[in-house]
Amino acid sequence: MFKRVLLKLSGEFLAGESGFGISPDTTAALARRITAALDGTGVELAIVIGGGNFWRGERNGKGMDPATADYIGMLGTVMNAMALQDAMETAGRPTRVMSAIQMAAVAEPYIRRRAIRHLEKERVVIFGGGNGAPFFTTDTTSTLRALEIGAEVVLMAKNKVDGVYDSDPRKNPDAKFIAQATHLEVVEQRLEVMDATALTLCMDRGLPIVVFDLFQEGNLRRLLQGERVGTLIQS
Ligand code: UDP
Repeated sequence: MFKRVLLKLSGEFLAGESGFGISPDTTAALARRITAALDGTGVELAIVIGGGNFWRGERNGKGMDPATADYIGMLGTVMNAMALQDAMETAGRPTRVMSAIQMAAVAEPYIRRRAIRHLEKERVVIFGGGNGAPFFTTDTTSTLRALEIGAEVVLMAKNKVDGVYDSDPRKNPDAKFIAQATHLEVVEQRLEVMDATALTLCMDRGLPIVVFDLFQEGNLRRLLQGERVGTLIQS
């Protein structure tokens, strides 16, 4: 059983069929899935939410100042954090949003020790605003915040992909599932886990990563209870 974990959710998990923006129904279903997995486990859960359903600096910001494009992306993650908080609380779980970009009217500022206090009180903490710095992605935010709050593992949630393969299983029917790998193997074999900056930080700090299918029934709960699910990456 884990004590404290960090769950990375892509912004797309909040979007409906179109893949853009926030669908309240999709977000409500996601929140119910997470709270049902968490209920009664006593595991402390922090979440980092991405913003790809609104904007990715590199993809959408072509022709713009790249830093400005990235700041727009970070703002998108705050909208997602607010929507997810609303849905988590409707599902019965007290939740706090902390933003790396100060936005006092809608979110608490990110203060490490306060985040830890919320977790100790069994509140789910959602980190919005990425790192508050451009030229990063929310994968690095996941790693950074996990290390800061002393999470034991980063859980990289996927949709319809049950872990890491040696090539893309959607393109290659012979792709082989990898149940376990070291950080170094992931780097050397260029396996798709998280971006290189985030991965290097995990490797340097010996932070384990699990890549798993959040949308397969019971997976998250089994993971939280310490069962092996998906792909485990550790030193
Ligand atoms: N972003 C950033 N710094 C951060 C985190 C995010 O500049 O620390 C920006 C970046 O432009 C990124 C966008 O926010 O493309 C959305 O985040 P991400 O692509 O990680 O979202 P996801 O793919 O997980 O939904």
